[in-house]
Amino acid sequence: MKERGLLIVLSGPSGVGKGTVRKALFSQTDIKLHYSISMTTRKPREGEVDGVDYFFKSREEFESLIAQSKLLEWAEFVGNYYGTPVDYVEKTLQEGKDVFLEIEVQGAMQVRKAFPEGLFIFLMPPSLTELENRITTRGTESNEVINNRMNAARQEIEMMNAYDYVVENDEVELACERIKAIVTAEHCRRDRIANRYRKMLEVE
Ligand code: 5GP
Repeated sequence: MKERGLLIVLSGPSGVGKGTVRKALFSQTDIKLHYSISMTTRKPREGEVDGVDYFFKSREEFESLIAQSKLLEWAEFVGNYYGTPVDYVEKTLQEGKDVFLEIEVQGAMQVRKAFPEGLFIFLMPPSLTELENRITTRGTESNEVINNRMNAARQEIEMMNAYDYVVENDEVELACERIKAIVTAEHCRRDRIANRYRKMLEVE
């Protein structure tokens, strides 16, 4: 049987740059991760493509996916549903490939219950002021949405304690290097790979 891939979960407050760090990570050739595209009921932002950035769904469609247990986790965040398709994650891990989720903290805690062996990384802004600047300069959201996202961000930062690693996103390239180092180290953890070498001893 093939060794299962690693499930990597990246969370962090809204505006911290999870999307940017994820895209930078996926553009690098020395790490191979498989991105799980989420479902959401949020309307697409300009430039977002269905099936690439998200699978955009109506509330009815999303609720039907919940009812059919098609989601590994889901959460309501600032008035919209977001969730991870369970089939893609299971299939990809079974193929021995590493799966990367970029999700908010309530969802991450559900994944933690289902996959305690997952790798949970929290992306941290250098400061709250910097975070507010980033949310404001994205320019795609109204003042009300910005305030809601800042409130959510404060609560999200308090959840940092539930994660295995904290990575500061001071510079995207540096944050990527840290995440790659963590993934490499996790692949060498004795409890993950002991079986492989036990088998080697049995054969020889
Ligand atoms: P945005 O609307 O800015 O794309 O995403 C809002 C928040 O939802 C972000 O923190 C993002 O990481 C999170 N998110 C995206 N996909 C999922 C998902 O499948 N599940 C959960 N729980 N959160 C998600």
